Amino acid sequence: MATTNKKTAPQNMDRARYEDLKQMLEGRKREIVNEVQEKIRDVRIENHSGKLAHVLDSGESSEADIQEDIEFALIQMKAETLSKIDEALVRLEEGAYGNCFECGSQISEQRLRALPFAVRCKDCEEARETAAKRERLMAQRHASSLFFDMSS
Ligand SMILES: [Zn+2]
Repeated sequence: MATTNKKTAPQNMDRARYEDLKQMLEGRKREIVNEVQEKIRDVRIENHSGKLAHVLDSGESSEADIQEDIEFALIQMKAETLSKIDEALVRLEEGAYGNCFECGSQISEQRLRALPFAVRCKDCEEARETAAKRERLMAQRHASSLFFDMSS
């Protein structure tokens, strides 16, 4: 008989945070799995009636095809999110999930609940956005000065 080997939190993370983040990620995972299963069921039913309609009226099938493509794209998107969650769970076990890429400090749980795949803390993200904005502005100025140089 297998022993219930409950995993403990990584050494560099406190237990409560680990449990919370794990629950949050696993909750999302369950949600998405359910949604995907429902969608797949829907598509199957639609396909079935679609075929019937096709037999009855072998003309207008393009609209159903487009709908099917959209459904497929949605499922694909969800599948991608699922693999991201799995990656996050692996990183959580390693004690690397929820730490800022830039400064290494813990990203707040509040932030992670809103953005489960955030890799930077709020401060670093804001600093990065400000820098990006400044860069864009500089590029714009550069572009317009080039324009004036050429026109003169
Ligand atoms: Zn940071």
